[in-house]
Amino acid sequence: MREVHVQEIIRTLRDLIIRANTDLPDDVLLALEGSRQREESPSGIQILDDLIRNARIAHREKVPLCQDTGMAVLFVELGQEVHIVGGELNQALEEGTRQGYREGYLRKSTLDPVERINFGDNTPPIVHLEMVPGEQLKIRVLAKGFGGENMSQVKLFPPAVGMEGILDEVVKIVSAAGPNACPPVLVGVGIGGDLEQAALIAKKSLLRKIGDENPRPEIAEMERKLYFRINNLGIGPGGLGGRVTCLAVFIETFPTHIASIPLAVNIQCNSHRHKEAVL
Ligand code: SF4
Repeated sequence: MREVHVQEIIRTLRDLIIRANTDLPDDVLLALEGSRQREESPSGIQILDDLIRNARIAHREKVPLCQDTGMAVLFVELGQEVHIVGGELNQALEEGTRQGYREGYLRKSTLDPVERINFGDNTPPIVHLEMVPGEQLKIRVLAKGFGGENMSQVKLFPPAVGMEGILDEVVKIVSAAGPNACPPVLVGVGIGGDLEQAALIAKKSLLRKIGDENPRPEIAEMERKLYFRINNLGIGPGGLGGRVTCLAVFIETFPTHIASIPLAVNIQCNSHRHKEAVL
């Protein structure tokens, strides 16, 4: 049994949240720079230039990449040989989130959904906890802006829809999102499972590196097809028209019931902020 103290978890999470919000991952910056070469629309080129410049300033000056600093979504893998000491894991995750948003001077966006009163500390985080073998604790933070989240969808289809129908539906959902999801977007697709599992794998897929394809060749082919079709929608950077509508499409699958094809599409905006640490 390996002991991990809650103070270490709090400190680590606080730093991850601040870094995620100020430091765009290299693969996202590279994808923006690459798409700048592909874009033909003058307003699209201007927006991509602004996004690249914005990312460099945020990194240099340690300021948030976007005013919407997101809701903290945490994917936590807890090794079975880890013993949490000094307090409770859930409380530590909440406190790390609170400290990250407070000490990073990041916007506090969480509130009661009925009374709409802001909690003032951006808690609670959304926590997805998974038990895994081993003696490590892995924390992955996704600061999820809600422009993209609001345009995401889960739908369950009869099997007769087939994979071509599913691909059509993904394109339809991204098309309907238009400028509201702050394109160029990343598109996480979950196929299979049940209602909530499809949504979970769609969101989790966004943690993949841009350029990493699904290991199953037939699914990788679906990712390429969707990437091509979505970029042909003409939505463009900022929704002002252009060739670059998405930077990546990630598909994850899970076994499902004979009566259904669950589909979730999680749209992530250009400010794709995530970081991870292993304790
Ligand atoms: S959706 Fe993303 S880019 Fe748009 S405002 Fe929110 S965080 Fe910023």
